[in-house]
Amino acid sequence: MKKIMWQELRRSEFEAAAKADAVVIIPVGAIEQHGNHLPINTDANGCLSIAQRAAQAIDEFPVLVLPAVWTGLSAMHMVYPGTITLKFHTFVEVLTQVATSVHAHGFKKILILNGHGGNSGVVSALRFKLGDEEDISYISSVIGYSWWDIPSVREEMERVSQSDKGFVGHAAEIETSVELYLQPELVDVSAAVWVPGVWGDPSTATREKGERIVNAAVNAIVKILRDLHSGTGMPMLFNRYQKEIVEDTPSPTLG
Ligand SMILES: [Zn+2]
Repeated sequence: MKKIMWQELRRSEFEAAAKADAVVIIPVGAIEQHGNHLPINTDANGCLSIAQRAAQAIDEFPVLVLPAVWTGLSAMHMVYPGTITLKFHTFVEVLTQVATSVHAHGFKKILILNGHGGNSGVVSALRFKLGDEEDISYISSVIGYSWWDIPSVREEMERVSQSDKGFVGHAAEIETSVELYLQPELVDVSAAVWVPGVWGDPSTATREKGERIVNAAVNAIVKILRDLHSGTGMPMLFNRYQKEIVEDTPSPTLG
């Protein structure tokens, strides 16, 4: 197994990784109630595990994975015990400062990989804030995805889902299946039923479905990381102070 976790590297290893144009994944999770059957780290664990597997699968360039940002926007779950949440602007600032720190060490290509629905809007918009307010230049590429929103993952979720029609829900068929695959020792199958705070039906979850969904997500992230590294099909990020005109190459298909 390659060393991929950011916190395990030494100083000289960061310099070598930046020189080799490493791609960095920032997993973003949540600590929030997931019914009576799943642990509250479900979202943080899901995106971190998918990020680690994708990073391990790539050999042609280095991929580093940060420790998951473990809390996010979970105000809607504060009515249930265990949930830890941030206020909106605090969350935006946390992500901004984590991403700008990574960027400051010479890493220009960053994937923010989200594991919690409540974080989705901020994660997908963060690249615009980084470009507009943090002077992260147009030659950088920062993108943000929620793993279940990637089209090929959605398709696999629709194929495996029995009760929730491919809808990711909350602590339901999809997430329970994923956790049965990733950390079964923390799942109480006897409590996997609908209760308030669960969106969907966890009773149809299986480990096999979880394995298929995780594999689909890992394959999708591997493709995104390769595209991000090569620059293929990736939107460029401009900043407010960009003075240079960047000529667009006309697309042959659009004439
Ligand atoms: Zn969740």
